[in-house]
Amino acid sequence: MRFRGGVAFPRELKPFADRPITGLPEPAEVLVPLYGGPGKPCRRLVERGERVEEGAVIGEGDAELAAVHATVTGTVTRLETCRLPAGDEWPAVRIRRGESAAHGQEGTSRAPAATLPDLACQMGILGLGGAAFPLHRKLRLPAGAQVDDVILNGAECEPCLSGDYRLLLERTAEILAGGLRILAHFRAKRLWVGIEQDRERAIAAVRRATGGGRRARVFALPARYPQGAEKQLVRTVLGREIPRGVYPWQTGVSVHNVGTALAVSRAMAGQPLLARVVTVAGEAVREPGNYLVKIGASLAWVLEQVGLKERPEKLLVGGPMMGFAQADANVPVTKGTTGILALTAGEWPQPTPCVRCSACVEACPAGLLPLYLEGYTLKGLFAQAAAHHPGDCIECGACSYVCPAHRPLVQSIRWAKRESGRRSPVA
Ligand code: SF4
Ligand code: SF4
Repeated sequence: MRFRGGVAFPRELKPFADRPITGLPEPAEVLVPLYGGPGKPCRRLVERGERVEEGAVIGEGDAELAAVHATVTGTVTRLETCRLPAGDEWPAVRIRRGESAAHGQEGTSRAPAATLPDLACQMGILGLGGAAFPLHRKLRLPAGAQVDDVILNGAECEPCLSGDYRLLLERTAEILAGGLRILAHFRAKRLWVGIEQDRERAIAAVRRATGGGRRARVFALPARYPQGAEKQLVRTVLGREIPRGVYPWQTGVSVHNVGTALAVSRAMAGQPLLARVVTVAGEAVREPGNYLVKIGASLAWVLEQVGLKERPEKLLVGGPMMGFAQADANVPVTKGTTGILALTAGEWPQPTPCVRCSACVEACPAGLLPLYLEGYTLKGLFAQAAAHHPGDCIECGACSYVCPAHRPLVQSIRWAKRESGRRSPVA
């Protein structure tokens, strides 16, 4: 069942999908945020001057937060506060790589935990679709709750990004193994892999790996943004509406990004989550593509590795629709960094006044009135803005994309959300 609103992108907006994942070398230093989930930082377990091995736990995991690991072998040189891509200030550990570091490793072996939630917590797994919510919290259900359907989300969360597609092509068996482990954890009945229908090669690869649908069913999704958003995905695959204020598990379904399923598979083999695939793109980039990057590498270092043709007019973390603009490039890559876009002036047009065409209303999959939300917010009329349900906005950016006046609507709506103190449930 198709979801309402949304936009179809031209194929040119997925330009680097054919470039295989390339591992970047290990950075000379990393700044690893003690981020194990929203709310508060992990308890730090290392001191300045301490030597750490790649994969060592440096931030303690608990019921709320996933553990944080050293992503290179080296010495803790500073304990500092960093700015996360979304703008929050967060405690972090700076590690200078030691001479003995083994380049290109993605983790070290260790004894697996007894249960999947414990393992996910120990191995530092956050949802890799961008939300970076702790997997172990998503896996633990209240007594009596039952999940029957597990959906692996292979619909790229944004145009320009192609990391999930490359993972589906290059790590097919591992993704499936991770998905089946999640299925077994929930004792669920069905495993689905949702992939946009214009990703024919990925659909074929997963169909082959599932033995023609015996182990999991591939669902070819309409190539329409924001198909990768949780509620929209569930509606398309299962024909099920998730009402306002209800979590997906309350309707019997659990959704996980394909990269998260891969992380589960790696965790089962004893590897913590130390790196992720990041799409680096934009007209300012010399060698755009999909790169495997250590968590804690700075955006500046990544851009240095891929090369810049010119100074970017705008630097975004994430995709063009929901990405966060960065004031400087000394921000670390985190587990939620799906993309880095270095855009030229031509790719970032200046906004002009609203012409009240209502294109944003037609595009909104949440049934909102983005022009009014922006209008009230910019005038500081937050009570009026709150009456238009900003908490239901999934921040997909479809409204901004279709706006002929290039209004940055989603930024205003984020502001309205903060002011009204409401949030859409994403867990
Ligand atoms: S799409 Fe842009 S110009 Fe049209 S009504 Fe919405 S905000 Fe105004
Ligand atoms: S208002 Fe929110 S949900 Fe609606 S199109 Fe804009 S960003 Fe997406």
